[in-house]
Amino acid sequence: MRMLIANGTVIDTDPEPRVLPGADVLVEDGVIVAVGAGLGAEDAEVVDATGLIVLPGFVDTHRHVWQSVLRSAAADATLGSYLDLVLGRFAPAFLAEDVYAANLWGALEALDAGITTVYDWSHIQLTPAHTDAAIDGLGESGIRAVFGYAHPGTDDASRREDEVRRVASRGLPGLLTPALAAWGPVYGSVEAAQADWRLARDLGLRISVHATGTGTVERLHRGGLLGADVMFVHGNGFTDEAMKLVADSGGVASVAPAVESQMGHGHPETGRFRGFGVTTGFGVDTVTDTPGDMFAVMRAAFAAERSRGGSLTTAEVLRMATVEGAAVLGMDDRIGSLRPGRQADVIMLRAGDLGLAPVHDPIGAVVTAAGSANVDTVIVAGRVVKRAGRLVDVDTRRALDLVSRSAARIAEAAGTAAPVAP
Ligand SMILES: [Zn+2]
Repeated sequence: MRMLIANGTVIDTDPEPRVLPGADVLVEDGVIVAVGAGLGAEDAEVVDATGLIVLPGFVDTHRHVWQSVLRSAAADATLGSYLDLVLGRFAPAFLAEDVYAANLWGALEALDAGITTVYDWSHIQLTPAHTDAAIDGLGESGIRAVFGYAHPGTDDASRREDEVRRVASRGLPGLLTPALAAWGPVYGSVEAAQADWRLARDLGLRISVHATGTGTVERLHRGGLLGADVMFVHGNGFTDEAMKLVADSGGVASVAPAVESQMGHGHPETGRFRGFGVTTGFGVDTVTDTPGDMFAVMRAAFAAERSRGGSLTTAEVLRMATVEGAAVLGMDDRIGSLRPGRQADVIMLRAGDLGLAPVHDPIGAVVTAAGSANVDTVIVAGRVVKRAGRLVDVDTRRALDLVSRSAARIAEAAGTAAPVAP
């Protein structure tokens, strides 16, 4: 099957973002085979990209997808009050069916906004049924995802090695890859972290861990736990020494600039991570208090870094939202750019929309002006999941009904205000 995305304003991201006006992207069996002007392909399905900005799908390196059902439920929260409300009161009320509804809805909203790959840091594994429901929701959406399993609690007794092994070996549906979302020494014991790292490395799973402030990286270093398979989420307030340890180990970083700025984690460390040579991507993190799209995240990162006197450019921001994010997930040999051989994860934005036209600088416009409403087409692995501004081949009404029912029930159980009925 061949598809020709014809005559778009193409932005490739590798090695550096650059604009190819009036270019085509040729896709064969879900893989990009050529990019350039006037490619032509007589037997291909032609997607007319005239008036569209064509670029690789966004890569969200850190999101708790199950929290889609809790949108804006902790809008004014700091990190402490978020933990009390979301993990302390909402999470225990989740049934497996709620996790399914939330993951389906959360993955669909990501796709709708042009995020074609998401790392789901999933700390809602209350039972094996919850785990299977989370995987089903992601799988059914059609998104490319890393499913990061987190033990159901932070204490040593809550570790579920058998479940991690089951997730790693059960065969995940669609475009899903398993990983270990580790609580790490910030939330759990050093012994538990050591056991988790051993387990993940034994199973060939990459590790993602939340960390801020001083001491965590140093503790992991002393325990011999740093490595190229470890993703540090946030990193606010890392010392220069910690940054250097991460860089020297080949570890990677995921910055969630909107959440960090609002919830008081500290200044987003985008510029410092990059300055130390750490491969850095972006994450939405949670929609309990921020929007679920990469446009908002890119702008939060750009503004926060510039407010600090940093020299971050829109091209660097777009790179982190795509190919560098893919590298954070260890997937830049497959996704994140339009280089021939890469999976056809492609999005198209309407350059003529209100709020986006006229487009003087396509890269600058994508980062500073575009939004989810401009996303016309989304393709994952060569499959069109959004066309002419609407998701296709998915019953969004059913997904909305499910997530609305779950939201109402969970709010009642947690004793918070009932959500507005759709
Ligand atoms: Zn997080």
